[in-house]
Amino acid sequence: MKIIIVGAGIGGLEAARLLAYAGAEVFVVERAADAAHMRYDVTDDVDPSIFDRCGLPVPHGSFPKRDWTFVAPGGGVREMHEAAPDISVNRRELDRMLIIGAEKAGAEIVWGVECEGAIVEDGRVVGVKVDGEEAYADLVIDSAGMNSALKASLPGEMKITMHDDDEKFAVFRAYLKRNEGAEEPRYSDKVYLKHLGEKGISWVIRRGDADDVLIGAVGGLNIGDMNKRLEALRADDAGIGAKYEHGQTFFNIPVRFPATRAIAPGYAALGDAAYLTIPMLGSGIASALISAHLLAECVAPNHTCGDDALGMTSIENLWKYQVLLYKTFAEHCGVDVMKRGVLSLDDATLDLILTSDVLTNEEVCALAKGRTLSFGVGDLLSKAIKAGRHAFKLLPIAAILRRAKKAISVAENIPKEFDAAAVDAWERKLNKIVKGER
Ligand SMILES: Cc1cc2nc3c(=O)[nH]c(=O)nc-3n(C[C@H](O)[C@H](O)[C@H](O)COP(=O)(O)OP(=O)(O)OC[C@H]3O[C@@H](n4cnc5c(N)ncnc54)[C@H](O)[C@@H]3O)c2cc1C
Repeated sequence: MKIIIVGAGIGGLEAARLLAYAGAEVFVVERAADAAHMRYDVTDDVDPSIFDRCGLPVPHGSFPKRDWTFVAPGGGVREMHEAAPDISVNRRELDRMLIIGAEKAGAEIVWGVECEGAIVEDGRVVGVKVDGEEAYADLVIDSAGMNSALKASLPGEMKITMHDDDEKFAVFRAYLKRNEGAEEPRYSDKVYLKHLGEKGISWVIRRGDADDVLIGAVGGLNIGDMNKRLEALRADDAGIGAKYEHGQTFFNIPVRFPATRAIAPGYAALGDAAYLTIPMLGSGIASALISAHLLAECVAPNHTCGDDALGMTSIENLWKYQVLLYKTFAEHCGVDVMKRGVLSLDDATLDLILTSDVLTNEEVCALAKGRTLSFGVGDLLSKAIKAGRHAFKLLPIAAILRRAKKAISVAENIPKEFDAAAVDAWERKLNKIVKGER
């Protein structure tokens, strides 16, 4: 079986390793000139158990992450103490490890080439256009991120899921040299929720003699708002300098529930191309790695790519991958409901749930890890007592949690076999619940 993977993304490189090992002829096409120019040179947080689950070592240079402190819109803070904190991984080391793994297994990485789109014949993806040339394959894997040109080129009748504007998180990230002699801030890792009233977050993480600063907004971020929020961070911590150490880049992160169609005949999307991040909370590294394993399970059962390339890459077989995605990531649908709901809450309600003891430390940690909460009548009563005269503010939150639970249940009930009418009906139902449509 010949496989072309577009984008040496985290998921793409892991899929290359698994599928080359299973006997496929694998080519990865990456537009960056080389590994040193891929993505960005920062550290990001991940649950360390993911490496064990994927049979990979923890990347060199990883270190334990400190607890977050949340800053509510009104300025109050909430410290979070995690029982099992994530680790921060060095992205260059992670990339290096995945590249070595893919190449050792026999995959070929072609650097410095840009995929312009898919070649579609008789309703099936049969190859890609790369730098003006045509390349054919039995399966094309999309690991080109949320703005994948490959995905965007697929014809409408393939029904591949595309995002709406409010489903992307526009982010500015930079490491700023710390002002010498500045007072140490009380908290080292701070997240500002709905910072300056924007639908989004900002963060500051102290890292040696630099501060890792992120400013993000749902839908889009203009330079003026970005600078205002940067100034507000400096007003809170005079140590945040003006000189950039590195980073200083704009990104887009998907903050929606997983694609309801990440597949078409001859095509499958992984990682960000399939929106496999937890809305507003990241986790993209783990999800990209897991999606590679789920896809390999379907295309190369028993770690072997057999002779039946057409059967293995048919929509009926690739649907098994789509089902596994939903069995694994159904909770992301509930988190998306909560994200949409929380962003629409007024600041006073957010202040209440973050800075009072209405939520326990365990509940705040669960939310920060992308788990949904579910309260029984007894829990709600005790929370209402804690909220006192503000108890009525909990009503919209209870409604959001109910809808989140329902979204997870619909997501888990994805049709087991590919049946066009049943899949259409399931997608409509899920979209309606997650997006709160009538
Ligand atoms: C600022 C920021 C902070 C984040 N923090 C975290 C975090 O703390 N924890 C976490 O788990 N996740 C985090 N994420 C998310 C995480 O980085 C992504 O979810 C993850 O990298 C997705 O992997 P992927 O396999 O989808 O591909 P990506 O890593 O998106 O890589 C896509 C690759 O495709 C290539 N490409 C794109 N288009 C083409 C084309 N047309 N032709 C050829 N090549 C192409 C790109 O050059 C790139 O190398 C963060 C993301 C950002 C931007």
